[in-house]
Amino acid sequence: MAKRDQKFRGKSDAVIDEWLDHNQERAGKVHSNKKGKTKKVNPYTSEFLPLSDSNGTVVEVHPGVCRVKYDATQETLLCNYRRASVHKDTGDGGRARSPVAIGDRVKATRTGSRDGIIEGLCVRKNILSRPAPGRDEVIIHTIAANVDRLVIVASVQEPEFSPGLVDRFWITAQKQAIPAILVINKIDLLDQRQPWSIYENLPGIDVFCLSAKKHQNIDALARELSGQTVVFCGHSGVGKSSLLNALTEQESQRVGQVNDFTKKGRHTTTTSTVIDGPYGSRLMDTPGIRSFGLVGITPESLKDFYPEFATLECAARGCLHHLGEPDCQAGTFARHETYLRILDSLENGDPREGLD
Ligand code: GDP
Repeated sequence: MAKRDQKFRGKSDAVIDEWLDHNQERAGKVHSNKKGKTKKVNPYTSEFLPLSDSNGTVVEVHPGVCRVKYDATQETLLCNYRRASVHKDTGDGGRARSPVAIGDRVKATRTGSRDGIIEGLCVRKNILSRPAPGRDEVIIHTIAANVDRLVIVASVQEPEFSPGLVDRFWITAQKQAIPAILVINKIDLLDQRQPWSIYENLPGIDVFCLSAKKHQNIDALARELSGQTVVFCGHSGVGKSSLLNALTEQESQRVGQVNDFTKKGRHTTTTSTVIDGPYGSRLMDTPGIRSFGLVGITPESLKDFYPEFATLECAARGCLHHLGEPDCQAGTFARHETYLRILDSLENGDPREGLD
């Protein structure tokens, strides 16, 4: 790997994407001009450009720089975005943590043989985002833009299947009208329990069980994703990197070890990248996460993201399906328990944390 690339990749057990929370990233860095005077550069200034102005796609995002794949030549340029004219409004009442995300269509200008600068960000079809955890103000972390499909990766065990995290990813996808797939990896470790079966036969989500390690059912998923731009999200350790390697038949993603004691994964993916996948797909790898807060979801709107609740005929108008409302049958649904936990976090907790 070139020295220049290594600089941005971080160590294998680095704590994911925390660099994005760095103060300088948020406030705009102080730059010196020719006369030695300093001025504060605001990286978030202008409107989105029309799609017709775009000439490249952001395929990697690092602190202060990103890689843009140039449409014309298919080469990648290391682009500065601090001085770029990019948009700050996420549309969800929060400030963007990073001005660009993987999948963004941009207008870039070459400044050297391998370098360039982003002049502007083009209108987005959709974004997959979450609130940055542990902050006083709402800062939106845009994980990816212009996505055709979300693959939520979970595992049979090591780490344990977490329906709360699956729901949070799926709610976010539904809000942006992104169709979702739930991939259950590590079926070679299958025992009696199949807690993910509650997602089978629900409208708007497909379930694929596979083993990245044993290469079971990989081609079925590859065919399903053909021609699409697909973002992969999941708890660290579920086998996301192994799955991307199996799909691309390359060792492009680093595989980490699951901690023997906690059975939880270490964070191995430290940046977001787009790689070419099978059957003309483009696969977006994102850092493994431990929590996923919700953007723009209220206690009143949460029920709309549980399609099975649509058949309920509760007596109370605007029933929120807590246990105890008159004639509310929501408790009979398998996902009601997870719904209640998320509802509680929206009503009483910090919706940005999304721990489950
Ligand atoms: P990531 O953090 O989600 O990217 O997970 P990795 O791909 O780094 O995998 C974490 C651990 O799970 C590694 O030890 C992998 O070898 C293991 N792993 C990945 N896929 C499978 C699988 O299908 N079966 C089993 N048994 N282990 C797997």
